[in-house]
Amino acid sequence: MTHPPLTILLASPRGFCAGVDRAIQIVETALDRYGPPIYVRHEIVHNRHVVEGLERKGAVFVAELDEVPEGGRVIFSAHGVPKTVPAEAERRQLFYVDATCPLVSKVHNEALHQFQAGNQVILIGHDGHPEVVGTMGQLPAGAITLVENEDDADALDVADPGRLALVTQTTLSVDDTANIVAALRRRFPDIVTPRAEDICYATTNRQDAVKAIAARCDAIAVIGAPNSSNSNRLVEVALRAGCPDAFLVERVNAMNWDRLAGDTVLGISAGASAPEQLVAEFIDACRERFSVTIEEIPVRQEDVSFNLPRMLVA
Ligand code: SF4
Repeated sequence: MTHPPLTILLASPRGFCAGVDRAIQIVETALDRYGPPIYVRHEIVHNRHVVEGLERKGAVFVAELDEVPEGGRVIFSAHGVPKTVPAEAERRQLFYVDATCPLVSKVHNEALHQFQAGNQVILIGHDGHPEVVGTMGQLPAGAITLVENEDDADALDVADPGRLALVTQTTLSVDDTANIVAALRRRFPDIVTPRAEDICYATTNRQDAVKAIAARCDAIAVIGAPNSSNSNRLVEVALRAGCPDAFLVERVNAMNWDRLAGDTVLGISAGASAPEQLVAEFIDACRERFSVTIEEIPVRQEDVSFNLPRMLVA
């Protein structure tokens, strides 16, 4: 039986970013160095495949520190944690390693700096996302005001319009965020905005790579988890950039292949917490159903890497 032809446009860059890579290496290095169990507070990154792989090596994922026994070793996830979490670990004299991405820590430092300068801090982000919980938890309760969309920006009530500063979640839609920032600037022209965008290089590059292929594709599959912010944003970006269909695929066995009926060009990308192995599995599954031709479409080279915490390499 001959398979129908399918051209796959591979968005590049895609998949793992430097912060995710570092967080996984932190858990693996701690497992090598101290042996299991190594406790990890929350999913180290938003990907079940990664989490299950680390569980097999001896990582134990917990929701809160009270699940870590006395004397346990614990790692905090790449998304960042409120200040109460390391404080609690110290109170209990737990050994802990903070795997917060350095680009998230940069936002934490900026929020603290602006608060200490006397500004009301506005955070653009998604309510309840672990990164937002962590960033809001850098300052006393009520010191950060969350803005999720342009309606929030229009309705924002502030104490002093001349003393406002802005930070953002790192994994937002670049375009949506620009619109929210513009809405805030219209109302509060003196608002202090970050010198460089808080949205990280990996989020920006993956969105640009999807935009570059969107208009050529009948559909775009984004390999990523439903709770991964940057993966969800890639689906939105694909649709807005002119692709008629775009969807998340967590694992290849969850794929509804009927969705590709009649399609001849499929784009593939992957969120920053999705390993390339999942992309390869998806392409292999496409080859079983289609006569596949692959074109990689690079928009940028990435050479970012972050060092491991000194305590793990000394
Ligand atoms: S998506 Fe960006 S901020 Fe988040 S872990 Fe990766 S590099 Fe860091």
